[in-house]
Amino acid sequence: AIDFKWIKDNKEAVASNIRIRNSDADLELVLQLYDSFFNLQKEVERVRGERNAVANKMKGKMEQSERQRLIEEGKNLKEGLIALEEDLLKLNDKLQQEAQRIPNMTHPDVPIGGEDSSTTRKLVGSAPEFSFPVKDHLELGKELDLFDFDTAAEVSGSKFYYLKNDAVLLEMALLNWTLSEVMKRGFTPLTTPELVRSSVVEKCGFQPRGNNTQVYSIEDSDQCLIGTAEIPVGGLHMDSILAETLLPLKYVAFSHCFRTEAGAAGSATRGLYRVHQFSKVEMFIFCRPEESEYYHEELIKIEEDMFSSLGLHFKTLDMASEDLGAPAYRKFDVEAWMPGLDRFGEISSASNCTDYQSRRLGIRFRPSEAPVASPKKSKGNLAPPQFVHTLNATACAVPRMIICLLENYQQEDGSILVPEPLRPFMGGRSVISRK
Ligand code: AMP
Repeated sequence: AIDFKWIKDNKEAVASNIRIRNSDADLELVLQLYDSFFNLQKEVERVRGERNAVANKMKGKMEQSERQRLIEEGKNLKEGLIALEEDLLKLNDKLQQEAQRIPNMTHPDVPIGGEDSSTTRKLVGSAPEFSFPVKDHLELGKELDLFDFDTAAEVSGSKFYYLKNDAVLLEMALLNWTLSEVMKRGFTPLTTPELVRSSVVEKCGFQPRGNNTQVYSIEDSDQCLIGTAEIPVGGLHMDSILAETLLPLKYVAFSHCFRTEAGAAGSATRGLYRVHQFSKVEMFIFCRPEESEYYHEELIKIEEDMFSSLGLHFKTLDMASEDLGAPAYRKFDVEAWMPGLDRFGEISSASNCTDYQSRRLGIRFRPSEAPVASPKKSKGNLAPPQFVHTLNATACAVPRMIICLLENYQQEDGSILVPEPLRPFMGGRSVISRK
């Protein structure tokens, strides 16, 4: 549940947060709708009370004419009540819809501004030097017969692809290696539904409708294709109260991801860089509120360790306020060097969503210890449930990882060296070369 009272009591802070995130949320409208909802709710309760009073009166003895008058009055009140309750439902829908757009609050250390204001937390490695003309992943893929974009365009549309031959083995190796690395660190593996209800998409902080939506919807149904496993994993514990001893819950999920990429333009839309469907392994943590910053650091460390062991040159960014999206309180992206593009490109993203998603999804935990503030009263009492914090982070988004591996590990003869950690997952192979 969204905490409207908190929003109202902290109006200035919420308004300034909306400004620094360049969000299109309309706080004034939300507060007006909330007041109207509150007043209408009181009115519904008043009319309901009157109707109950009339029903009670009718239990006693009375003249026939008086009974008739009360029947008439009760009928009018009931009709009025039905209409008011319908209005209340509609008002609530509108209120929830507008309120969904209010972004999470922002960590005090987040740099304020647009993309260019993001700051570098860490820089690892250096760009490889080549003694021959560098090819991009499309040229390399063509020579090694790794992709088919043309047929995919006929069969599905633009920005789809077939992976072929060693690219398929590379995708499988990346997925299996990533899964085994993250499982070693105590995460539980999952595969997930890839169609979910649009209400769950909304509760995770994404907009399933509208002109610029990134979400594909299924016609004549309330289901959408997932853009990330974050959504079905977030939904895994919705509407529940978890035992505190279960926390943290750490999951690593494989799924396909589907994105409309509405509004995406620019040079980096060629080949595998920005496609409508891709495979991804995603990490997700449910934890106690006071631990979410710690686990955010853990997630980014896992990403950095894995990208380092693949030998990539990359930087980790503390993303600026306008680039956080609605659910994240703080977000760390990793950008890796892509020689074919001659620049860094985003390969992963780790977000601390605090209680933004858990409030909407209804995921709470019951603290094991009763609060100590009032020891007499609370003795033997259960402490009230609290919302968990949720975090998500990319462990491996396959297409951009394939770009990195092909472009960084290309050899003069057109073959590709397979990084050490992936070799056991590629049948011991150390190179991808022309057949
Ligand atoms: P996001 O969930 O938007 O943070 O994306 C997670 C990661 O998925 C990004 O860092 C990219 O590596 C990858 N990714 C996102 N969108 C696409 C796309 N349209 N095509 C290929 N990879 C993508």
